[in-house]
Amino acid sequence: MTAARPLFRAPPDALDAEALRRDFPALNQKIHGFPLAYLDNAASAQKPRAVLEAMTRFYENDYANIHRGVHELSQRATNAYENARKTAQRFINANAADEIVFTRGATESLNLVASSFSRAFLREGDEVVITELEHHANIVPWQVLAKERGVILKPAPITPGGSVDAAQVEALLTKRTKLVSVAHVSNALGTVLPVADIIAAAKKRDIPVLLDGCQAVGHMPVDVRALGCDFYVFSGHKLYGPTGIGVLYGRKEWLAEMPPWQTGGDMIESVSFKGTTFREPPARFEAGTPPIAGAVGLAAAIDYVSAIGMERIADYERRLADAARAELSKINRITFYGPRDNHSPIISFNLEGAHAHDVGSILDRCGVAARTGHHCAEPLMERLGVPGTTRVSFAFYNTPADIEALCRGLEKTREIFP
Ligand code: PLP
Repeated sequence: MTAARPLFRAPPDALDAEALRRDFPALNQKIHGFPLAYLDNAASAQKPRAVLEAMTRFYENDYANIHRGVHELSQRATNAYENARKTAQRFINANAADEIVFTRGATESLNLVASSFSRAFLREGDEVVITELEHHANIVPWQVLAKERGVILKPAPITPGGSVDAAQVEALLTKRTKLVSVAHVSNALGTVLPVADIIAAAKKRDIPVLLDGCQAVGHMPVDVRALGCDFYVFSGHKLYGPTGIGVLYGRKEWLAEMPPWQTGGDMIESVSFKGTTFREPPARFEAGTPPIAGAVGLAAAIDYVSAIGMERIADYERRLADAARAELSKINRITFYGPRDNHSPIISFNLEGAHAHDVGSILDRCGVAARTGHHCAEPLMERLGVPGTTRVSFAFYNTPADIEALCRGLEKTREIFP
């Protein structure tokens, strides 16, 4: 590898990653003496100054608890929180702000649906269809239901290329299927699932579809109405926003029929010892004091990426990931997992003769942040026949210099594990 040779050529209208990375203070540091090459974006993305400043401004000027206060600060905080809901609505093109429920993250969104949707619509013997490549957060809530309530969990197999065949999902659908819950993009392999075909197959049978969009929303335009999904979940922290905030999008018709999940606080209409009534969605699903500043930070993150443009982000990251894969292919005895085409900017691989954790540790000594292990997708790893992989995941602030650092680190690994 030579630093002089350009790894990839961006078109003239591509985003300016060098300029954008200056918005992210955390990227400007050395790790073990090397400039940080942050390639763990699928686990969590770094935060632009716009997000940090929006949250600081909010805490310094407008902070109070929301909804029930008549005083000025409470009203300002309420406005900020509800405006964040509208920002999220516009970002994924939901029909109405009321279809956006703020949660503490995608895991909570998934648990909310598993708990509440199932109480309204699932009976013993009913089926939920997922895939083998799901994150644990889209497996375990259903597994718990299966055990406690006699619901049947049916995982669709992955193809040898690490993708999902919509026809195989369709083959699992029966009269008892009450929900299809699948990733939009695999966190472990980067596979972009054929969600349009999966949704079309489910819709033919009036089966609702939930998409786990954790690895999609930060990397491609997402339009829930164009997709036609019934639920869509994601976390703020993977979208350059803060931790502790997530979104559950649910079509109004479903949310209206779903019972509360957690209870107390803002989701209450009135309480007496004769009984309690609950507010309409989304408030019904936002018990207790919600992550108010988290919502403000998420809205700032959405504004930030929207100003860059999701199409441009997708295009740039795609080119970068393709260039990275081409360079990595030159390394001896490297095995890639996941599709070459139709992938997001995630690359999962193993170096024969080197354990993924050793690879991760050596990369770290070279200033490269990568993730190793099962990526919270143990059934997928079992299917692939490996204990884990090394995963590098790109963001729009990564540059060819990060690819070079990665390749240098892997060459070092090969020296230690020839
Ligand atoms: N689903 C997918 C596809 C993910 O990648 C992740 C996180 O890695 C999750 C769900 C869980 O997200 P969180 O930990 O933010 O709740």
